[in-house]
Amino acid sequence: MNSLPEWLTSEENSRQLAAMLAPSSSFSLEALAAESRAVTLRRFGRTMTLYAPLYLSNYCSSGCAYCGFASDRQTSRRRLEPREIEKELIAMKKLGISDVLLLTGERTASAGFDYLLACVKIAAGQMQRVAVEAFPMSVEEYRELALGGCTGITIYQETYNRENYEKLHRWGPKKNFFDRLETPARALEAGIKTVGLGVLLGLSEPVEDALRLYRHVRHLSRTYWRAGITVSFPRMRPEPGGYTPPFSIDDHFLARMIFAFRIALPDTELVLSTRESPAFRDGMAGLGITRMSIESRTTVGGYHDTSHNEKGQFDVYDNRTAKEFCNALQKQNIEPVFKNWEPVYNGPSSAASA
Ligand code: SF4
Repeated sequence: MNSLPEWLTSEENSRQLAAMLAPSSSFSLEALAAESRAVTLRRFGRTMTLYAPLYLSNYCSSGCAYCGFASDRQTSRRRLEPREIEKELIAMKKLGISDVLLLTGERTASAGFDYLLACVKIAAGQMQRVAVEAFPMSVEEYRELALGGCTGITIYQETYNRENYEKLHRWGPKKNFFDRLETPARALEAGIKTVGLGVLLGLSEPVEDALRLYRHVRHLSRTYWRAGITVSFPRMRPEPGGYTPPFSIDDHFLARMIFAFRIALPDTELVLSTRESPAFRDGMAGLGITRMSIESRTTVGGYHDTSHNEKGQFDVYDNRTAKEFCNALQKQNIEPVFKNWEPVYNGPSSAASA
């Protein structure tokens, strides 16, 4: 594949979203917020599902210009060993967390597929739900992960602008735009139940990236209609390499994007991480966002063992404890949900065996 697929570029099915996101949009932010709030309430009630990330390793062979783990960043590198993972998971469980996202950098000899699979199996023995944000894999590898207890993967395209993608991904396997674009479909083909998509806001012109992200979601949900798809809205945060993004995304645009996605994709879980400020996160709860991370550490481990001083992938903004965050939700009459999943469902979906 050398040119962008038609499903990604066709404007035909994204006119409603385009109208809501246009700089000269006739939809006021207040009107979008009211509609988004009503849709959220109708489809999800007053609930917020909560998860936490666990960085397994900060080894990486890629050179993404915007990332604190890029292979040219000066920081010590390490990975968690099985006993350490157990301890980190126990510490997370003490905070109330039962839904974990395991993260690594790009595939390396120190943290490759076999290592990741072993980590998934350990986490599946401890947590109700295990998802992975790591390197693109083959269908066979995703099938093994699903059998090991992984129910979801997160794989952001970062930007759908090919020229910018080429410049930002300076070296390493992540340079392959099309391989990454096809990764969510491979995971769903293999029986992974949910895929998380997103763009890193600030890397490219945001409206065009948002429209292509939306078309990607539509394309996958039509092809894999049983799949769960989530959309995240990460904005660039300061990282150890000091990268400055070319586009500045203000709160007003991000709120508009969240409301527009909620209206255009009423059944899709929308996710907001601790990259955002407490005030912004509290404001978006109930208005469109239905899933949030809590207690995030962006260094390797960090829940049990806090003695290491390597740099994180990026700076966390909302540093509230799980208890503080849940109190803030409850003040808004929103119920924090730590578990809405039984591990008995953790095998691959029927797509894998079909
Ligand atoms: S974004 Fe991922 S692949 Fe790129 S440098 Fe960071 S950890 Fe590596």
